[in-house]
Amino acid sequence: MPGSNEGSACEERFVDVVIDAPARELDRPFTYRVPPRLASKVETGSLVVVPLQNRLQVGYVLGFRDRPDIPNIRDLQAVVDEPPAFDASMLELCSWISERYLSTLSQALRLAIPPGRARKVVETVELAIDPGEATKAVPERSGRKREIIRVLAKAEGPLPISELRKAMGGRLPSVLLRELENAGVIERSYVLPRPKASRVRVRMAEITDAGVEALNDEEKAPRASARRRLLQALLENGGRMGAAQLQKVSRTSSSVLRGCAEAGWISLRFEEHLRDPYAERYFPAAEKHALDVHQEEALKNIIAALERGGGVFLLRGVTGSGKTEVYLQAIEHVLKTGRTALVLVPEIALTPQMVQRFKGRLGEEVAVLHSRLGLGERYDQWRGIQEGKYRVVIGARSALFAPLRDLGLIVIDEEHEATYKEGSPPRYHAREVARKRAELSGAVLVLGSATPSLESHHASRTGECSPLFLPHRVDGRPLPRMELVDMRELSARGERTILSPRLLNALGRLYKSGEQAILFLNRRGFARFLQCHGCGYIFRCRDCSVSLCYHSRGSYLLCHHCNWSLHPPFICPQCGNEVHRYAGVGTERVEEELRRLLPVLKCLRMDADTTSRKNAHWEILETFRRGEAQVLLGTQMIAKGLDIPSVTLVGIINADTSLAFPDFRAGERTYQLLTQVSGRAGRGDLPGRVIVQTYCPEHYAIRAALRGDPDDFYQRELEYRREALYPPFCRLVNLVVSAPAEEHARAAAEALGADLRSRTSGEPAVVLGPAPAPLSRLKGRYRFHLTLKILEQGRVGEGLRASVRSFDRWRSSFCRGEGIPPEDVSLAVDVDPVTML
Ligand code: ADP
Ligand code: ZN
Repeated sequence: MPGSNEGSACEERFVDVVIDAPARELDRPFTYRVPPRLASKVETGSLVVVPLQNRLQVGYVLGFRDRPDIPNIRDLQAVVDEPPAFDASMLELCSWISERYLSTLSQALRLAIPPGRARKVVETVELAIDPGEATKAVPERSGRKREIIRVLAKAEGPLPISELRKAMGGRLPSVLLRELENAGVIERSYVLPRPKASRVRVRMAEITDAGVEALNDEEKAPRASARRRLLQALLENGGRMGAAQLQKVSRTSSSVLRGCAEAGWISLRFEEHLRDPYAERYFPAAEKHALDVHQEEALKNIIAALERGGGVFLLRGVTGSGKTEVYLQAIEHVLKTGRTALVLVPEIALTPQMVQRFKGRLGEEVAVLHSRLGLGERYDQWRGIQEGKYRVVIGARSALFAPLRDLGLIVIDEEHEATYKEGSPPRYHAREVARKRAELSGAVLVLGSATPSLESHHASRTGECSPLFLPHRVDGRPLPRMELVDMRELSARGERTILSPRLLNALGRLYKSGEQAILFLNRRGFARFLQCHGCGYIFRCRDCSVSLCYHSRGSYLLCHHCNWSLHPPFICPQCGNEVHRYAGVGTERVEEELRRLLPVLKCLRMDADTTSRKNAHWEILETFRRGEAQVLLGTQMIAKGLDIPSVTLVGIINADTSLAFPDFRAGERTYQLLTQVSGRAGRGDLPGRVIVQTYCPEHYAIRAALRGDPDDFYQRELEYRREALYPPFCRLVNLVVSAPAEEHARAAAEALGADLRSRTSGEPAVVLGPAPAPLSRLKGRYRFHLTLKILEQGRVGEGLRASVRSFDRWRSSFCRGEGIPPEDVSLAVDVDPVTML
């Protein structure tokens, strides 16, 4: 049927293309003509090379369109890769992402580009005349031009402009190049480097009818001949296999292979081959369990939604309550109906056991996508998914963009994990994007967690998603005993210690019993706070209800949201005692203390210092797993790998460090951390014990975690969020302005704040700050942030959008006025941030 896009061959066709460049001004479609030679290759989602202004760029085809009413429409230059990188529905998802997270469309589309296939046109320059003449053509006083000529002469060929710039110490004004080009001294051109991931082709050998006949003919293929050996081996392998493999198993040379092919006994052909990192591995069938009543109920609801064509669920159940079993059976149902499924897990949870369980149950249709695979392997998993070879994908955050067709189910396990938030633009949250993708494809979304995020919990109360419960562990094993140590009592007796007698006693027993312990110090280096050790009081901002950070240089407390500051009083406003400065205990201090008090115990320390080497993390865990130490001491990073049967004791050195984090999610994090720990300790046959040291035993997050009372925690946390106005009752946007010089960053942040305030004045939004970001200096840049609270659910304000869109232009005019090099100032926008660092 002739559609509007399919005219006669001579009809001209036009496409809209978005340029793959970070500049916000280029974030709009550009129209190009499709030259007849490319007509059959261009589709929505094609990677193309297009001319823009005076250079070439890579872009993505958004779709066909009518001839626009503008003169001089230019031609597409080339189609770079096939098949197209994305289809219309992925395009819709990415457009939504760029709108919602205020990125450019090309940044969002990059998420959908196959692994290792993003391309970039590299602009090069070379001398057009010989170096001597070139030098003569440039007056002696233009030192910089002469410097360019010197660098190019040394390069002896086209040099990427980026390298020329590096050689020039980072500064290369484009006017210099233009003048040199106009003078005929240099020549510019372009190269398109090969993609990082490539396809591999394998030579396949297949036996022919003549080959089978030859095997039956003693004369053609004598008994002891190498040719017969080769044919025999090929036949035994089903008549078809890789030629290299065939030579190996039949112990024949390549001349024998060639001989057989020339005789017409075998055919040789190159074929594309998909690398499969798991191809050689055997996965024992994973047992399918008869579901218990709660699992049955959950599955029934999910299946009903699958049949309705959509729905969102929050599946709440502690670790070991049988969530994964429910996912697996739901996926089996989806596959039976001919659709596909996607499972996201936190990167760290993508252990061999998890992969084995999915592959063992669901077989060869399972693709795995995570960052530890090689780029080529990831690319081939992607292609296998696109071709329909794999119908189930399990992976980390980025697997969300796997090209599955007919998607029926998306599962996000441990949905509360912060790793579901992307750290670079577009800073999307996998949970929200999954919700959108499910909606676009009529799929069901299942969010699973023992400790749901407040957002998901709230959604399950407002009807945005349906709650499902798995109330206990399948194996009936009890949760470990949670014990609280009130550090205030020690402090009142004048004992200034890190390790309480109770924890020390419990640790001391390990030596005899042969059991193991994990000690947590959930502290981040910069998060210093002030706490009264008499009553546990933590100083908070009067407006923002987040804890204040203590800055020892200058001795003041600062709110990193709104910039409010005060000198700390000497007397605690709650109990009237003298306030002690919290010095901040590090893992090293704890290790020292432990060595002093319990020298017989062997202790492994795991923190940023001891794990900077690659694999150090796993080596430490393995040493501990082998039982070569009794104690593993570390920061948050050890909470995850915590599944060691002989660990019967977990000690939290100071629960208040996460409670006093300068972030409105401090309470949520503390509750989640304590609950997750309790769900994991004591996984073997021995019962577990968790000892929590705190100066704030009354805090609801700590109390609820200790009592195992989620309802109490969620209710109080929601109250706090409602009163102090935080998500889920508003939306946050964090804007970080940074620059190498502190004054430049501060000035730009202040000016941007004024701009934002005036643009959003008519909207239901509040702008806070600027204030120094909690992480006030990072990689040599000073950071100031502005926080925007948007009161109306679900809408990002137009004022904010306009401000971000025009940032580049705003920056040039601002910087010109201030005498700051514009490239020095940068802006990072984080919509729905999970941390405010
Ligand atoms: P979760 O994902 O909540 O941690 P799993 O699905 O991994 O829980 O279940 C924990 C363990 O219990 C697994 O070893 C699983 O094989 C087993 N299991 C799950 N459901 C059942 C069931 N209905 N009967 C018996 N064993 C089960
Ligand atoms: Zn404040």
